[in-house]
Amino acid sequence: MLTELIKSDRVKALLPAIKSFMAEEVFPHDLAWSKLPFGELLPTLEALRQKVKANGWWLPCFDPHYGGMGLSLMEHAFVSEAIGGSPFGYYLFNCQAPDIGNMELLHLAGTDAQKEKYLQPLAAGQFRSCFAMTEPEYAGSNPVRLGTTAQRDGDEYVINGHKWFTTGFDGSELTIVMAVTDPAAASYQRASMIIVPTATPGLQLIRNLSIMGHAGSGWPSHSEIRFDNVRVPAENLLGAEGAGFMLAQVRLGPGRIHHCMRWMGICERAFDLMCRYAATREIEDGVFLGEKQMVQQMIAESRAEIDAAKLMVLSTALLIEKAGQRAAAEKISAIKFFTAKVLGDVLDRAIQVHGGLGITDDTILALYYREERAARIYDGTDETHKASLARKILKKFSISNIQ
Ligand SMILES: Cc1cc2nc3c(=O)[nH]c(=O)nc-3n(C[C@H](O)[C@H](O)[C@H](O)COP(=O)(O)OP(=O)(O)OC[C@H]3O[C@@H](n4cnc5c(N)ncnc54)[C@H](O)[C@@H]3O)c2cc1C
Repeated sequence: MLTELIKSDRVKALLPAIKSFMAEEVFPHDLAWSKLPFGELLPTLEALRQKVKANGWWLPCFDPHYGGMGLSLMEHAFVSEAIGGSPFGYYLFNCQAPDIGNMELLHLAGTDAQKEKYLQPLAAGQFRSCFAMTEPEYAGSNPVRLGTTAQRDGDEYVINGHKWFTTGFDGSELTIVMAVTDPAAASYQRASMIIVPTATPGLQLIRNLSIMGHAGSGWPSHSEIRFDNVRVPAENLLGAEGAGFMLAQVRLGPGRIHHCMRWMGICERAFDLMCRYAATREIEDGVFLGEKQMVQQMIAESRAEIDAAKLMVLSTALLIEKAGQRAAAEKISAIKFFTAKVLGDVLDRAIQVHGGLGITDDTILALYYREERAARIYDGTDETHKASLARKILKKFSISNIQ
């Protein structure tokens, strides 16, 4: 297959051992793990993280100076597929959102002191972090409209505001908050990013949001939080004042492609489960589900769509590597909504083939169906990516008044 031809020698050497690790130590257990509170699960996950570290697989896509493997985006795509099929895969390799996005931000814009205090322990997996931008009162699709403010008071910022969908806030050490520092500035220069240790007085966890019946805890949870006169030293500003939106774009670019790569792992796991069930579920005496044409259609369509999505992801990774994120902006938008749809469709078909079993929690499918409906919403909704792509295309046709 084409993807085999474009794997680097380094990845070819790595993948068999990573796949065995996932097959033996993670996939057989992750469904049971997903039913436990995150705190109870931590010792198990920590022991596996140590194995990942000992094997030299830690932080596959990050700077070796901080303990990462320094894989290229293309190489990381293949590792992502291998580990992304478990809800815990990215966490075990310390490349999970939102921490990896925060590490990238700190790497890019952090001062030496911020790198030492926050980036090094994050990269070492000593604590977790989160990213607080979205607010219940303002449409996240138009991120320049924010209610949270950070006012300078001497050597401090005083932060007030209300955020939600702050993934992984529960149990995290720090959040990077997006807050308006200059309401009078041009819309894209109003906000800044500020590092806030979560133990700072005035920062409260209101609740972990219940997502389709599951509130979760710890890393796999999404919190509503409030900042009431939260004071942090001015040196906690990340990057320049007013650079918040520019940094958010930098953070979201790689984040989107990482998600798409991870989804390929989920697609492959769902596809494998669908095929195994179709091949073994007896529907009449001596006749198996996979012999029915409507089931064959679901399998064939899923295979074609996964392959198409995978090649789009890989070609986007290559373009980012060769020409940079800006040159790949159209492709990043296209893969974000396209692969999210493929993911949803493949999971839906896999559930359908499993019948009643598919909607129980006896397989991983229902968890993914529930959790990954959000794929069409986080890191840019389908609609914002489609609108952005269409606008860029139409500009080439000289439609000057497209907004
Ligand atoms: C699981 C999950 C995790 C998340 N994690 C984080 C996190 O860690 N940190 C964080 O800050 N945020 C996080 N988010 C929030 C996410 O970024 C926002 O939900 C997203 O930006 C959309 O904003 P909104 O929910 O306010 O929807 P809105 O902006 O209110 O939009 C509502 C709907 O309208 C559609 N829409 C908007 N504009 C248009 C238009 N012009 N034409 C047609 N349709 C339009 C949107 O696409 C959307 O479907 C997370 C969200 C989810 C679901």
